[in-house]
Amino acid sequence: MTNNNIPKLLFMLILSLPSFFALPDLPSLPHFFPNISSIPHSNITAAWDSFQKLAGCHSGDKKPGLAKLKQYFQNFGYLNKSDITDDFDNALESALKTYQLNFNLNSTGELDDFTLKQILQPRCGVADIVNGTTTMNSGKPQANSPAPSPGKSHVTTKIHLGVVAHYSFFPGSPRWASKNNELTYAFLPQNQLDNSVKAVFATAFDRWSEVTPLTFIETPSFNKADIKIGFFSRDHGDGEPFDGILGTLGHAFSPPSGHLHLDGDENWVINGEILRSAAEDAVDLESVVVHEIGHLLGLGHSSVENAIMFPSISSGIRRVELAGDDIEGIQALYGSGPDYNGSPNPTLQERDTNKGMVDRPFLMRWLGLGFAVVLFVL
Ligand SMILES: [Zn+2]
Ligand SMILES: [Zn+2]
Repeated sequence: MTNNNIPKLLFMLILSLPSFFALPDLPSLPHFFPNISSIPHSNITAAWDSFQKLAGCHSGDKKPGLAKLKQYFQNFGYLNKSDITDDFDNALESALKTYQLNFNLNSTGELDDFTLKQILQPRCGVADIVNGTTTMNSGKPQANSPAPSPGKSHVTTKIHLGVVAHYSFFPGSPRWASKNNELTYAFLPQNQLDNSVKAVFATAFDRWSEVTPLTFIETPSFNKADIKIGFFSRDHGDGEPFDGILGTLGHAFSPPSGHLHLDGDENWVINGEILRSAAEDAVDLESVVVHEIGHLLGLGHSSVENAIMFPSISSGIRRVELAGDDIEGIQALYGSGPDYNGSPNPTLQERDTNKGMVDRPFLMRWLGLGFAVVLFVL
C-alpha cells in the first residue's frame, strides 16, 4: 500500500461508517387515518399483484413469476427451500393442494380463480404450517360430506356442521404462565403513537381478556413489558421483512416472546368504520391487532373463515369479534374468565359499527405469519 492510498482508504472508511452502525430494525412512522375517505388515492402496486398473471397455471407449466409464488408458499410453510424455480412442479402442486384444503377450496392443485383470489388477500405473516405441522384443515381428519358449493371443499361443510374444532396451538402449546394472569404491554417509543391509536389496542386486548382470566395493562417501559408492540417497514431485523402495501400486514411471536409487529407501510384505519370503497388498500387496525394478540397468547391459524384466527382478511374489511372457535381455543389454554357468561361482552359488540358485514362471504378472507414461531422454536 502506498502513502497516496491511505487518505483514500480513510475517506472510504468514513463513508461506510453510517451503514456500519445502522440498526437493522429502525422503526418507521406508521400511517394512520381517522376514516377511509381521508386516505389519499394512489396507484401503488400491492405486494402480491404480480400473481394475477399466473391465473390458470397448473402442473407442467413454466412461467416467469412462479418462483415468486413458490417463495410465497415457502414463507407460509407449504414448500421447502429447495424448490424455488419458475417450474410448476410436483412440489408446487402439492403445496397448492394443501393450501386449498386449509382455505376451504377445492383441492385441485391448479391455480384456479378461487385459489388465486384467496392468495391475493392480504394476510398475517405467521406461517400456516410450522416445522411441517399443519395447524389448519389439512392437519385434521377429513370426512365425507354432502357436495360442496362451487370453489369450496367438503371440509367447509364439515366445519359448518361443527364436528371438528379448528383452533390450534403452536408446537408444544406454549402459553403465558404469568403472575396473577396479568400481562403488561408497551409501544415502541419511536413510533410516536397517539392516544387514539393506543385505544384501538386497548379494545383489542379487552376482547381476549373478557373470555379468559387474563388482564392486560399498558406500561411505559418498553423493555420491561411482557408484550412489545411496534410498527416497522420492510426489513426490521427479525428475518421476516414486511412488504409495503398489503401483502403481509403483521406478525407476532408465540409465548413467551411477546413481540407484536405491524407493517408500518399500510394505510391503517383506526375508527372502526371501515367500508369497501375506492381505497382498496385500507386496512382496519383493530382487526389485525385482535388476530395478532391471538398469536401472542398461543393460538395458531384456524380454517374457520369467520374466526379471528383465520389467516387472511380483505382490505377494507373489519373483523374484530372473537368467534366460537377462537373462544374455545383460548379457553383451552387459559380457562374462562370470572366474568365470562358464554357470550361476548355487549359493550364491545356495540362498538362494531359494521358488525353486519362480518358475516358476508366475501369478507371471510383474513390474515397469517409462521416465521415467528420458527424463530422461536429455533
Ligand atoms: Zn417483525
Ligand atoms: Zn396470524
